[in-house]
Amino acid sequence: LSQVAMVTPEIARSIVAELEAQRTHLKLIASENFSSLSVQLAMGNLLTDKYAEGFPYHRFYAGCENVDAIEETAARYACELFGAEYANVQPHSGADANLMAFWAILSTKVEVPYLEGLGETNLYKITDAQWKELKERLGNQRLLGLDYYSGGHLTHGYRYNVSARMFDVYSYAVNKETGILDYDTIEKQAMEIKPLILLAGYSAYPRKINFKRMREIADKVGAVLMVDMAHFAGLVAGGVFEGEYNPIPYAHVVTTTTHKTLRGPRGGLVLAKKEFADALDKGCPLVMGGPLPHVMAAKAVALKEALSPEFKKYARQIVQNAQALAAGCQKRGLEIVTGGTDNHLFLINVARKGITGRQAESALRECGVTLNRNSLPYDPNGPWYTSGLRIGTPAVTTLGMRENEMDEIAEIIASVVENIKPLFSEKDNGPSKAKYEIAEKIKTSSQQKVIE
Ligand code: PLP
Repeated sequence: LSQVAMVTPEIARSIVAELEAQRTHLKLIASENFSSLSVQLAMGNLLTDKYAEGFPYHRFYAGCENVDAIEETAARYACELFGAEYANVQPHSGADANLMAFWAILSTKVEVPYLEGLGETNLYKITDAQWKELKERLGNQRLLGLDYYSGGHLTHGYRYNVSARMFDVYSYAVNKETGILDYDTIEKQAMEIKPLILLAGYSAYPRKINFKRMREIADKVGAVLMVDMAHFAGLVAGGVFEGEYNPIPYAHVVTTTTHKTLRGPRGGLVLAKKEFADALDKGCPLVMGGPLPHVMAAKAVALKEALSPEFKKYARQIVQNAQALAAGCQKRGLEIVTGGTDNHLFLINVARKGITGRQAESALRECGVTLNRNSLPYDPNGPWYTSGLRIGTPAVTTLGMRENEMDEIAEIIASVVENIKPLFSEKDNGPSKAKYEIAEKIKTSSQQKVIE
């Protein structure tokens, strides 16, 4: 760090401040974790200096032997860990992984007769009129994914995301009464819409998904089943999601991030059936430029770590902790969406306490607890203010915490939420800062408990 400080003390100070912040706050953001030192060291080094566009042994640059070995090893570990036929470890993020998967599915499934046999080097030879037709055909395909307010991700067709411009987008939602997915309704919708892609996966859904059933629906309407397991990849890797709850045997294409429950570096990954391998190998030039060799090395380290028996125990404990924490909050009078959780996260309806998610998020951060506000299904407060909190246990489980600590954390969360006094009307005060009051006594006692 002193090396960094010699160049820019500001950045060195921010890194130290972030270390301090992460050590003095409870990290309950469902999409965050603590990666190992081995992961961080594999990522922070000279590999960042190498270009390697293309895929292993098929590069547009010279001198890629070492990156070939790194990428091939990471992909092999990924296939072994998940039991996948093919892995691409290049995406820089979960959003990139989805973009790569979308284009690979479009390229594989949408018939463009005059392109057949042309080969990649002859793509430039098609006429302007053919190019226009190609773009129209690709742009008119249908995507059916989980609605943003039901826990779907922005990249699953949210209006302001590029996915909504690439596809003719439709969405399915959770049942309004139960907050749970209803497969018969999804099937009915799919039969009407006949999408090219049926997309399953979430950022904020506290239950398991039956991927066997989703595949049956996809097969019935001739759709490709794509699963985005960004949030729960660690639970799949650790064997918690088995049988029909494991997406790998059922989905044609699976995407994920590597930094959430999987506990690796910030990045993405695509797993697929062999049928999609050729198109995915063309991630560059489809949507990518050069891969990040240092991050692929760190992904290999994380995947190897996830192959260990300890990781299985870790994955199980994440879920046990989430269930204990949800039960602790419920016991103290907080409303848990769907009444509990099957995975690493759960949602609290704080609107029931007369506050917005944003007020609760800010007050809890002041009190030493870092988590994020989240829209709830059919949320009247929208995606900025929100009615909910999303709470996840991957990071605190990495710290070695168990059910007893979860009960203590539930006590902190409940006492803060109960004591937030909203200053009305928050929405009239504009988007800059949440408006509320929290007693100094609550603040200091919560901070003290967090440090302990
Ligand atoms: N997919 C899902 C389900 C996610 O929850 C996220 C991130 O939260 C992403 C994709 C995007 O990942 P990234 O932030 O790495 O682009």
